[in-house]
Amino acid sequence: MNAMKRCSVGRHQAEIVPRMTPSLSQGNLFRTLWLLTLACVLCACASPPIAREPAHHSSAAWRTIGASVEGRPIDAITVGGGPRRMLLIGGIHGDEREGLGAVDRAVEIAHAHGHAWTTTIVRDMNPDGTARGTRTNARGIDLNRNWPARNFKPGRARGAQPLCEPETLAVHALIEDIRPSIVVVFHSMRSGPLVNFDGPARAYADAFALAASHDGAAWRVEPSMGYATPGSLGSWFGIDQSLPILTIEFRRGARDVTDETARALHAIYAARRKESLSSTHRAER
Ligand SMILES: [Zn+2]
Repeated sequence: MNAMKRCSVGRHQAEIVPRMTPSLSQGNLFRTLWLLTLACVLCACASPPIAREPAHHSSAAWRTIGASVEGRPIDAITVGGGPRRMLLIGGIHGDEREGLGAVDRAVEIAHAHGHAWTTTIVRDMNPDGTARGTRTNARGIDLNRNWPARNFKPGRARGAQPLCEPETLAVHALIEDIRPSIVVVFHSMRSGPLVNFDGPARAYADAFALAASHDGAAWRVEPSMGYATPGSLGSWFGIDQSLPILTIEFRRGARDVTDETARALHAIYAARRKESLSSTHRAER
């Protein structure tokens, strides 16, 4: 009991090791304690902080790409060095925060696919809306209606002109800089979970929905939201430029979407390598 008590206190372990002179009665016990101590030291030395992270990506860090109307930072991180490029936006409507909790996990997954992909993640492009719990930014503008799409319509909640808000201006500049080959944006809605897409993104949408459904939620793919979205990011990036973009609609109020998002993101990264991925989900509208 005396030996057990001393071993349980870490700062006493150094005292135990030099005294380790096995006797006939205590030899096995001391040998076990010694091996345990040795194993702990080896584990501490051998395990890197993030085992899945390739060494050449360890310098990735969050940076500020712009500021909101009220001066909150809009932060982004770029992970990996592969030739394919993904932009992931954790939130654009401030009252749809479900996806924000999955962002850090998404960074981990991006590291794991860093050999093939360069992934840039914007944690939250509407920090004022998130702080206020509102869909719009602090000026009452819907940041998903303020893009320079051909179908942009000026309006009180859409802005007088495209990119008149600092949040859309910052992320637009980011997109022009990194030129992503796919964009993924997290939202939520009561009729979720579903994946809406624009541009040539059907295979990605199918892959996301199929993988995300693994944990129980019945995800579906909706090529159309069923209502007009003038000036949306999907209209500008997906329709006007014919590039793939996924609008991920988590079920409103879902508490933890981390695991299903992790599965789905892995599937998207893999789907790009399977150009002929078959459609497994039928559109409901
Ligand atoms: Zn939304």
